[in-house]
Amino acid sequence: MYTAKARAVDGPHQPFHATEIKRRNLDSHDVLIEIKYSGICHSDIHTAHGEWGEVNYPLVPGHEIAGVVSDVGPEVTKYKAGDRVGVGCMVDSCGECENCCRGEEQYCHQGNIQTYGGVDKYGEPTQGGYSTHIVVTEDFVLRIPDNIELDVAAPLLCAGITTYSPLNHWNAGPGKKVAVVGMGGLGHMAVKIAHAMGAEVTVLSRTLNKKEDGLEFGAENYYATSEQETFEKLAGSFDLIINTVSAKLDMDAYFSLLNLDGALVNVGAPAEPLSVNVFSLIGHRRSFAGSLIGGIRETQEMLDFCAEHHIVPKIEVISADQIDEAYKRVLDSDVKYRFVIDVSTI
Ligand code: NAP
Ligand code: ZN
Repeated sequence: MYTAKARAVDGPHQPFHATEIKRRNLDSHDVLIEIKYSGICHSDIHTAHGEWGEVNYPLVPGHEIAGVVSDVGPEVTKYKAGDRVGVGCMVDSCGECENCCRGEEQYCHQGNIQTYGGVDKYGEPTQGGYSTHIVVTEDFVLRIPDNIELDVAAPLLCAGITTYSPLNHWNAGPGKKVAVVGMGGLGHMAVKIAHAMGAEVTVLSRTLNKKEDGLEFGAENYYATSEQETFEKLAGSFDLIINTVSAKLDMDAYFSLLNLDGALVNVGAPAEPLSVNVFSLIGHRRSFAGSLIGGIRETQEMLDFCAEHHIVPKIEVISADQIDEAYKRVLDSDVKYRFVIDVSTI
């Protein structure tokens, strides 16, 4: 067993505290990673606050992990000590079901094993990236391209893939009009990636406060959803809408912005159910869909795409003592655009 330093939370709305956790000895295909940076995703907050259901506390969140391999098990072939690597939202899956065989491990029929808040195949609770080390089976470790620094690489492992995957699946590209709702951690990555894919990107944010940034990230248009005329002006405009908002929205108002055959894909995961008036969909053969992160193969493809197109998130690096404050700032939408913990301060 390895001992890792970590930051844990003991219950909803409790402050984070320093602790130590155990990481298993290396199994034949395991990789020991010294974590350098760990992003703060809004999902960490939903989970830590118990909004998504029962949580096994103490909880060490963190599923945007970037670091360096420090040791490998005897049969590891993909990585060696010194390699720059990442780990995202899942650390294992059954590997045998139809979806795993298609490389869509996030939709594993048995349920993928989440990086934190899950139970691993040894029956132990999983703990995430707000810690100095993690042990992960090599198939769930990603290679970070040389031209992406580790601090900005971390958020790609969740915010990057969660937006890349639906943009890819719904064919964002030249000639497509894509809207991104909410310009936070996921939203700003969606703008950068959709723009790099060649789509015409529009940001739908509550206010125009972040307009300058949105245009710099690659959006061509930027509208405030607090203004009713936005919905009138943009009615029937978009082929694809990626909704990254962490709270309940009036979905029918957003469906009205879709063109014939357009799709609205929810990646935002508010705890409260969303309601739908089907007449908002059937009139223009519109679709309402959801999407969960992305598979391992697609995550590597996203990292390589970002390296090729020089896409990285805009981040604010914080120390481990600032996690509580960062959570508060994310909830206040006072984040530009991802907090990343410098793990050397844990
Ligand atoms: P975030 O940084 O907090 O961004 C969310 C954005 O939503 C905010 O910046 C804000 O944008 C907008 N927003 C927040 N509250 C709102 C409200 N009450 N009404 C309207 N807009 C509001 O969060 P994130 O880390 O990007 O995560 C976003 C959501 O995606 C979370 O629910 C998270 O759990 C989920 N998620 C899902 C997956 C998946 O696989 N599907 C993966 C990761 C995260 P503006 O200020 O621009 O309005
Ligand atoms: Zn996440």
